[in-house]
Amino acid sequence: MAERIYNFSAGPAVLPESVLRDAQRDIWNIADSGIGIMEHSHRSAVFDRVLEEAEADCRTLAAIPDNYRVLFLQGGASTQFLMVAANFLAENRTADYLNTGAWAAKAIKEAGFYGNVHVAATSEDENFSYIPPVESVVLSDSPAYVHYTSNNTIFGTQFDYVPECPDGSFLVCDMSSDIFSRPIDVSRYGLIYAGAQKNLGPSGVTLVIIRDDLPGQTVRPLPTMLSYETHVTAGSRFNTPPAFGVYIVGQVFKWIIAQDGLKTMAERNSEKASVLYDTIDHSSFFRGTARENSRSTMNVCFRAPSAELEKKFIADASARGFSGLKGHRSVGGMRASIYNAFPAAGCEALAEFMREFEAANG
Ligand SMILES: *Cc1c(COP(=O)(O)O)cnc(C)c1O
Repeated sequence: MAERIYNFSAGPAVLPESVLRDAQRDIWNIADSGIGIMEHSHRSAVFDRVLEEAEADCRTLAAIPDNYRVLFLQGGASTQFLMVAANFLAENRTADYLNTGAWAAKAIKEAGFYGNVHVAATSEDENFSYIPPVESVVLSDSPAYVHYTSNNTIFGTQFDYVPECPDGSFLVCDMSSDIFSRPIDVSRYGLIYAGAQKNLGPSGVTLVIIRDDLPGQTVRPLPTMLSYETHVTAGSRFNTPPAFGVYIVGQVFKWIIAQDGLKTMAERNSEKASVLYDTIDHSSFFRGTARENSRSTMNVCFRAPSAELEKKFIADASARGFSGLKGHRSVGGMRASIYNAFPAAGCEALAEFMREFEAANG
């Protein structure tokens, strides 16, 4: 089989090699059951164990307090945009949103179907190239909840603070593109959600961590599948869960634990990102698009002097075995996504290639 190349895709994204190799085995026959993981009943003892371990490892990894529930749902982060508002934003109430880019804006749009939205901070004035400073966040009088996006995948910016949230309200975070890339203090949140396909596993499974008093506080009657209460009561098995996705996410949790946990992940991620940002900062050719104090350790966005040179860079990089470097159209240029499972050697190799490219084309 051909060798694998460096995959800088923004998502679905690279997964740990050991997880993929074990999955090859378990797709054929998991736990000596004679049946592959995708072929087991979601009520079988084998899947009971997969689900229990995934939840237990998730709790260990993030030191999740006992009064939080861990759910594995479907519909992606995009369904959480509407579920959060459907469950917790009454028609006559206001929820506060920090608008830091395209995903945050989509969450705002969905909330608007249910109640009022107050934009508590925005960086739209400079095409979302920075995280609004903590002192610029202005909350409404009594928000139902406060929502933010910890890492802005498209713009390559990441919060280095947790926004304040007044008593009687709770904090909601879309962590789709940086969950478990660094330690989290779960107790500061009411609800955390993340589509799996950036840092945790395949698309099709969404991790939700919710404080256990919240599912009972829904503000309107809801269709069964849209209610958090349904999924908490049924332990993520109200309907057939995305069993294969839950299995992979569970294996990724075990991999992160074996790497020594979130603190080590954070150190490695910041070293990996520094290799690329240092290259950009020492270059008179490339320039980063995010403000320095807002830079993401997960998505490194940069431009070359012209659109033609960017096209050439992406084509030459691709010929060298670097895939997925084209930036999102709303930013242009290049984006190197270097999630947890992306190897440090790939960052070194890209940095080397950038220096070569600059020398040849600068
Ligand atoms: C990718 C992404 C999403 C969208 O996730 P889906 O699972 O495709 O719905 C939402 N928020 C952020 C921050 C993302 O990076």
